[in-house]
Amino acid sequence: MVTRQEQQDASTEVVEVAPDILRMQLPISLPGLGHVNTYALCDDRGLAVVDPGLPGKASWKALVDRLGKAGYGVTDVHTVIVTHSHPDHFGGAGILRHEAGADVLTHSAFRTWLDPDEGDDAGPDELPESVLDAPVDGDDTPASHGRKPWEIQQPWGGGTFKPPLDRRMKMGLMKTMGRRWMRAPEPSHRVDQDDVVTFANREWVAVHTPGHTNDHLCFYSPADGIVLSGDHVLPTITPHISGLVAGADPLAQFFASLDRVAGLGDLSLALPAHGLEFTDVAGRCQEIKDHHAERLQKLRDASTAVGETDVVELSHHLFKERSWGRMAESETYAHLEHLRHAGEMTSRRIGDDLHYAMVPEPAPSEPAER
Ligand SMILES: [Zn+2]
Ligand SMILES: [Zn+2]
Repeated sequence: MVTRQEQQDASTEVVEVAPDILRMQLPISLPGLGHVNTYALCDDRGLAVVDPGLPGKASWKALVDRLGKAGYGVTDVHTVIVTHSHPDHFGGAGILRHEAGADVLTHSAFRTWLDPDEGDDAGPDELPESVLDAPVDGDDTPASHGRKPWEIQQPWGGGTFKPPLDRRMKMGLMKTMGRRWMRAPEPSHRVDQDDVVTFANREWVAVHTPGHTNDHLCFYSPADGIVLSGDHVLPTITPHISGLVAGADPLAQFFASLDRVAGLGDLSLALPAHGLEFTDVAGRCQEIKDHHAERLQKLRDASTAVGETDVVELSHHLFKERSWGRMAESETYAHLEHLRHAGEMTSRRIGDDLHYAMVPEPAPSEPAER
């Protein structure tokens, strides 16, 4: 099986990918993902770091190591930029805010299950959903993770999701996740579309890119065409599009967000959160749209073949068996809702479960008589 860039183990090298921008890789071990890229944006004041890895000691030690290799210490970090509310991106933010006094910059809609107003008991039992993610078929490994899934009533039926936690994994995480590593990110600065921030001696425009999450942000530097693309645009995999996020049609939001990035103007380089930097950013956005167009067609074909049926069955047509389960159902649901919003499908609830069917093609109409 091919190992994708995004699956490679974290490199310990620090690489200057553009002037004043360093790529550091921190280890993560999730299906389909072997590292997260933490970019350091260097200036006279020190560093802004983008997406400082998972909560936990291993990630923290790797971050301290990489900063040291680049000639910096933890207290040189003046800002943490978090592209979106997934734990492999925000994990180090709380401790950097606490121990380096760093600002934490997110989108205005940023929210996690570690937020203080969710109570003080976010402990090792409340694991990032990421550890539960299963890889889906070869072209569609989700770069995804999320929030407290057991509080979510699955809109397509089947009740509330209960995580099938692997006990060994749980024990391992309990050992490494003390309170210190589990601090909530507590944003100090929240930005919106078109807000401008200055790091690495450049101005960056905040680009709101909902789809993968509602609070996903990219940052674009008009001076040299660099975009920090987070999980929104990755080099060889596509981010999970969840049917569980708020919003009527997350796939439509994702498409609009791809167009938004592709239309930014002169794009010279994308710096993604997983995998290596790449240059044809607009081309990659189009590839991802094409990929989802194929998935939508596969669903149309499956639905036509089997007739009205539920999301679980349709997910079995869209995904290979090893990927069946809640993630696959969630993404299938997002695609079905997209077709329903487009007027191509109808849904109705039978018992607890939503069932979908294609809207029949109208019969060819007779030429109107005059
Ligand atoms: Zn993500
Ligand atoms: Zn990610």
